[in-house]
Amino acid sequence: MPLVTTEATVLQAFPYSETSKILRLLTPQNGVQSVLARGARRPKSRYGGILEPFTDGVASFYYREHRDLHNLSDFELGRSRQRLGRDLVRFGGASLLAEIILRTGSPQAAPEVFAHMRASLGALEDAPDGDVEPVALARAWSLIATLGFGPALDQCVGCGVDLEPGTALFFDYTAGGLHCGRCAAPAGAGRIIPGAARTDLLSFLAGEATALDRTAAHWQLLGRFLAYHLIDAESLRSLDFLAAALAPA
Ligand SMILES: [Zn+2]
Repeated sequence: MPLVTTEATVLQAFPYSETSKILRLLTPQNGVQSVLARGARRPKSRYGGILEPFTDGVASFYYREHRDLHNLSDFELGRSRQRLGRDLVRFGGASLLAEIILRTGSPQAAPEVFAHMRASLGALEDAPDGDVEPVALARAWSLIATLGFGPALDQCVGCGVDLEPGTALFFDYTAGGLHCGRCAAPAGAGRIIPGAARTDLLSFLAGEATALDRTAAHWQLLGRFLAYHLIDAESLRSLDFLAAALAPA
């Protein structure tokens, strides 16, 4: 059994037995891996309570070929990212990224996804209070683009014609992009998005957060798009969590 030592970010952590935890780790060269952290729930665990979502560090685990679960032997803390846990929207945004990766990730090497996630967690921690939502939207859309299923915004998904910027067009959830004004848009699975929202979306896909007056329609668009492109997307818990966190009190 080879010992793998790698940079890793905890995407998810859940209890296993009375004393242990199972972690889903994102790594650059081994993609998403599940590891068993024996004793991690004991009060005097050598992991010292750091094995929580979004912790960065260097993980060592015994890699068992053709198995889904490997034994963690060490986790050297890089950054605990506790600030994310103190703000519902920052935490919800990070959880959404983790869920998208978990639904699409594999044990294949994905250094660009790993780099994107680390940068995103830093951006969500550091965003000024008023900018957290656009930063979360930009990190989610740019993750989708990094994973290779970003929507087509420059050319019509029906006929391929270049789209003029600035006009309201039909966003087709199923086809994953915009229709020009001449192509017949399918009924139902999509919505018209205004020119300004198209511009925002282009920025988000490039990872740039733009100031937004209203964010509700953007969250709805993201949620509907994911519903058509992720397995079991209806059960994305982070979107429900974000909706509750963003609801007016
Ligand atoms: Zn067209």
